[in-house]
Amino acid sequence: MSETLTPDICVIGAGSGGLTVAAVAAGFGVSVVLIERDKMGGDCLNVGCVPSKALLAAGKHAAMASKAGRFGIQMSQPMIDFGKVHDHVHDVIASIAPNDSVERFEAMGVKVVKGEASFVNKNTVKVGDTLIKARRYVIATGSRPAIPPIEGLQDVNYLTNETIFDLMDAPHHLMIIGGGPIGMELAQAHRRLGCQVTVLEAGDILGREDREAARLVRDTLTSEGVTIIEKAKVQKVKKVDSDRDIIVAYETEDAQHEVSGSHLLVATGRAPNIETMNLDAAGIRSEKSGIRVNKGLRTSNKKVYAVGDVTGGLQFTHVAGYQGSLVTRALLFRLPIKYDPQLMPRTTYTEPEVASIGLDEESVFQQHKDAKILRWSYHENDRAQAERTTEGFIKVFTTAKGKILGAVIVGAQAGDMIALWALALAKGMTVRDLTSITPAYPTLAEISKRAAVEFYRPTLTNPKVRKLIGWLRKLG
Ligand SMILES: Cc1cc2nc3c(=O)[nH]c(=O)nc-3n(C[C@H](O)[C@H](O)[C@H](O)COP(=O)(O)OP(=O)(O)OC[C@H]3O[C@@H](n4cnc5c(N)ncnc54)[C@H](O)[C@@H]3O)c2cc1C
Repeated sequence: MSETLTPDICVIGAGSGGLTVAAVAAGFGVSVVLIERDKMGGDCLNVGCVPSKALLAAGKHAAMASKAGRFGIQMSQPMIDFGKVHDHVHDVIASIAPNDSVERFEAMGVKVVKGEASFVNKNTVKVGDTLIKARRYVIATGSRPAIPPIEGLQDVNYLTNETIFDLMDAPHHLMIIGGGPIGMELAQAHRRLGCQVTVLEAGDILGREDREAARLVRDTLTSEGVTIIEKAKVQKVKKVDSDRDIIVAYETEDAQHEVSGSHLLVATGRAPNIETMNLDAAGIRSEKSGIRVNKGLRTSNKKVYAVGDVTGGLQFTHVAGYQGSLVTRALLFRLPIKYDPQLMPRTTYTEPEVASIGLDEESVFQQHKDAKILRWSYHENDRAQAERTTEGFIKVFTTAKGKILGAVIVGAQAGDMIALWALALAKGMTVRDLTSITPAYPTLAEISKRAAVEFYRPTLTNPKVRKLIGWLRKLG
């Protein structure tokens, strides 16, 4: 028997974007229906950020053995029980899962409906036999791995981020197609856990990142034993008849090559989850990358907003969550909202981490001919020396007058350190504001301050300033 629900807000997808909208709206006592077809918590919790960071953490501990010698500590090579690493990863997921659970959201007053949602018309959504007629809708259906049309790929048992965290045995040789953040994080984690790893990237690895920062990541992973082949166009994948190995045929500028391995991970980007939603029936326009939204995150149907990966913009959990919180302001208080991607930090959690915010170097100089780059190196930071994490740098981009336009950090804790620059950009600060803070000594936070102080370095040799100091000295 069909049931019709008439909440104020209907949210489709219980990942970071959808959960944020549901939690905030329910917190204000507004009636919310939240629809989820799979696991609560979405990609981040189940097959994305959480398992990948837990695996990287395991890899980091394994790597300590080879680094401890520099501290005067000899450790024998680690014995890795991959089955137990798998259990650790799933234990971390399980400890976070209650935060996103049906029970928690129902206790907040959200009605959770399990099943796949699709639009019936501009005002109605259907899940199984249930119809939902809400005042407003928020689509937060996320994304899934985009699988490229490579010959033979469908005939081999390839892995994606949806399956790799289920492996109970270490891959003997993991081949990864795609050197973006997901590919590079999983390459380092598996290498450190004792696997042979080969990355095949059609362009340059971490192609959207600052080139200098990406080179440091590439060199570090290479020195750890990851084989990284850039400008490698994968043409064909096939199985070796005699054993379980997979062969990947690829082309570089000058030649054809083959590599074989035990496992193949496809990490070649993301596709929006929109196919089953019958968006046309609701007058919601989309393109290959995702649902089209304006700066206020509204779709072409005024009753419907979209947030997170499904919009095809920056694909990060904090972005989906931030967009969700913006949308609730529009839904509950009818306030105008404007999403600005330049204020969103972007981090890749390899070691060294790469974090950036605002404009990149190229855009900075396209838009501001007299822009400045302020640099400071981890090598010149005492804490980094003590911890022996001296590889890395910060680059800050400013206008000639010192307004902060962007920052890139590569090195230890870069993802944490970028928060300061996120505040600086959000508040339209100048380097002068940044020089007014006093970070504790010795911390990596001093690297940010030193970069800001660099803005004033030319003042040290300015003849007028020197003349002024001399004149003041004469006063006694
Ligand atoms: C391996 C990996 C590592 C990552 N690491 C990081 C990281 O370290 N930091 C970071 O910020 N981001 C990371 N990300 C990205 C992050 O996971 C996503 O940006 C984030 O999950 C997007 O949230 P969302 O709410 O848009 O979508 P999702 O989390 O994907 O949630 C969408 C939900 O909608 C449901 N759904 C889809 N269609 C329907 C339907 N028709 N009806 C009902 N339900 C539906 C899905 O089942 C899913 O649960 C990583 C991603 C991957 C794959």
